[in-house]
Amino acid sequence: MDVVRQGGCGCGEVRYEVTGEPIFVNNCHCSQCQHQTGSTSVVNAFFESERVTLTSGKLTEHIVIAGSGGPHIMVRCEICGSALYSHYPRMGRLGLGLRVGTLDEPGSVRPDAVIFVSEKMPWVALPEGIPAFEQFYDFREVLPPERVERFKALLARSKR
Ligand SMILES: [Zn+2]
Ligand SMILES: [Zn+2]
Repeated sequence: MDVVRQGGCGCGEVRYEVTGEPIFVNNCHCSQCQHQTGSTSVVNAFFESERVTLTSGKLTEHIVIAGSGGPHIMVRCEICGSALYSHYPRMGRLGLGLRVGTLDEPGSVRPDAVIFVSEKMPWVALPEGIPAFEQFYDFREVLPPERVERFKALLARSKR
């Protein structure tokens, strides 16, 4: 049986369930993530969108331009505005990056990589035991083969 995790927004209106383990998890320190969250970095767990089910509440979408130039769609609680997840240009709406901090047990998901270390706030210390990269990384160097295949399958579906 796949693990099912629950999470939600800051006001409690939006609740969701997510099934299975993420394809990959990034702790991103890029300046865009800093601007969008007002914080040091963000932790995103990437899933196929069909693994996430809204169980209560309503969502709104906010579009910004991603670093790659395409639309980055941020999905928030309609009432309190907490950002729950994003659709990024590469995967389109078939995939999403779930904000790990919105999980009821955020500690149950661990980053596979710390990225855009080159843009991090200078006093932020990096975690031990998690690979860190100046910018992005090659998934094949970090992820086990079955998760690389899952990611490739998602990218192939997104291109159709
Ligand atoms: Zn809310
Ligand atoms: Zn970022």
